[in-house]
Amino acid sequence: ANEKDTPIAEFLKGQVNIATEYRGEIKPSDFEEYKSKNGFEAFVKCLKELSPDEIIAQIEESGLKGRGGAGFPSFIKWNLVKNAQADKKYIICNGDEGDPGAFMDRMLLESYPFRVIEGILIAAYAVGASEGRLYIRAEYPLAVTRIKEGLEICKKEGLIGENILGSDFSFDLKVFEGAGAFVCGEETALIASIEGKRGIPELRPPYPAEKGLWDKPTLINNTETLSLVPFIIRNGAESFKEIGTENSKGTKVFALAGKINRGGLIEVPMGITIRQIVEEIGGGIANGKKFKAVQIGGPSGGCIPAEMADTTIDFDSLKEVGAMMGSGGLIVLDESDCMVDIAHYFLSFTQEESCGRCTFCRIGTRRMLEILEKIKSGKGKLSDLDLLEQLAINTQKGSICGLGKTAPNPVLSTLKYFRNEYEAHIKGECPAGKCENLIRYE
Ligand code: SF4
Repeated sequence: ANEKDTPIAEFLKGQVNIATEYRGEIKPSDFEEYKSKNGFEAFVKCLKELSPDEIIAQIEESGLKGRGGAGFPSFIKWNLVKNAQADKKYIICNGDEGDPGAFMDRMLLESYPFRVIEGILIAAYAVGASEGRLYIRAEYPLAVTRIKEGLEICKKEGLIGENILGSDFSFDLKVFEGAGAFVCGEETALIASIEGKRGIPELRPPYPAEKGLWDKPTLINNTETLSLVPFIIRNGAESFKEIGTENSKGTKVFALAGKINRGGLIEVPMGITIRQIVEEIGGGIANGKKFKAVQIGGPSGGCIPAEMADTTIDFDSLKEVGAMMGSGGLIVLDESDCMVDIAHYFLSFTQEESCGRCTFCRIGTRRMLEILEKIKSGKGKLSDLDLLEQLAINTQKGSICGLGKTAPNPVLSTLKYFRNEYEAHIKGECPAGKCENLIRYE
């Protein structure tokens, strides 16, 4: 067969590799190989040719927004930390990925350790940070090993340490292994955990950019965000900006999983449709089943039905349909998936991971789960749906951090697009045939 028609070629076609640049062409721990593919060129350019203001101007011009979920413009955070007056500043790379079905950070850290380190070095230089932490889940041992090996090599090569490459810039970078609490992905909880405290989010402001790690100004960026930085600096903001949509520039990395023929780590241009991802990159639904929906953004995101598969992947469009980009989990569902069960699955995850500080996140999610369990077992009533919706809205409003604010999203989006399935359960039937032995309560 023609090589162009192989499943791998089909899988890669339509992808744009920036965070995953030179995919399959460089051995992860081979420093010389990384260098031979323009590795550390961007960092050296920063040290030798660009001032911190010029670097941040490039980041602003590129339109880069944080890839951790919220999509906040990166240059604003960078400027805040750069302009903060303090004797010491920190940078943290957030690699605390805990969403079910997500493995973006893991793959970037395992496969492109030098790119992540280079992104951190550029950001640290731009904001004036002298110390950094790479926060990685301890459940990702290969990622931890590869990054630690990478740091050792960079120290030997003079890229980390005192007076880097003969400049005035000195920087130290260490790995911090997280203990697997989902809530530690929240900036303030992550900081508390590095400080040796219990990982509980704090009310903001003050934001970490003003008062972060050990009360010093701290830049926290997600692993993918930092992985995009070397490309932007090396090729100029224009090269990044020309990819994507009006308000969402560049690419997004997704962990494509679920009932799909070809799953895996993908990097796609913003503006691609869900249908293109499912049908062209993913090769369609597995086992000849019917495409039903995608769950995008993990437990913080929402379900988008197959009928809306022409929705484009960008921060605004996803928000408009009641979902959100999240950090990059993309789970494809088919006709055999029960949407009440899916909502229950994601909510049980966030309920379990709630730190318990806010009443609505602690108790509201529990009550919602109980209602979902009642509906799943055929004992629900129509009035339960209104109560479920009200609890979801109150939980969004009454929670202080992203975990609680977004935990109701899978419930709200399935109620919006698959209300008929909730009603069918109440009548004693699971359309997907998944919830067995439904007993009509009365
Ligand atoms: Fe903790 Fe939930 Fe409140 Fe976040 S919203 S601080 S996870 S209780």
